[in-house]
Amino acid sequence: MLKLPSLKCPQCKNANMFASYFKLKLRDKCPSCGLEIGNFDVADGPAYFGIFIVSFLVPILAIIVEVNFSPALWGHALLWVPAIILFSYIVLIYSKAMFVNIEYRLSNK
Ligand SMILES: [Zn+2]
Repeated sequence: MLKLPSLKCPQCKNANMFASYFKLKLRDKCPSCGLEIGNFDVADGPAYFGIFIVSFLVPILAIIVEVNFSPALWGHALLWVPAIILFSYIVLIYSKAMFVNIEYRLSNK
């Protein structure tokens, strides 16, 4: 079974690694253990990962909806525009957390 990456500090697992979930900004420093989370540079990795997953998932779901329910075009727009925004946000949060966790583990080997 797949396990979602933790959104907590990779070192102590006590405090959230994000200062702001809305902006997806990492904390500068963990308030619990002092790990400098802001120094992890995940660059564009989460964005590429998010594009890969969402652009793979949404067309498949859109085809399934079209074959089974055949909604009008405005129905597709009404359904998929918010779905793409929501999927992208969720995938970005977890992929950013995953990249920070990977970078933390690789930096301690
Ligand atoms: Zn910590």
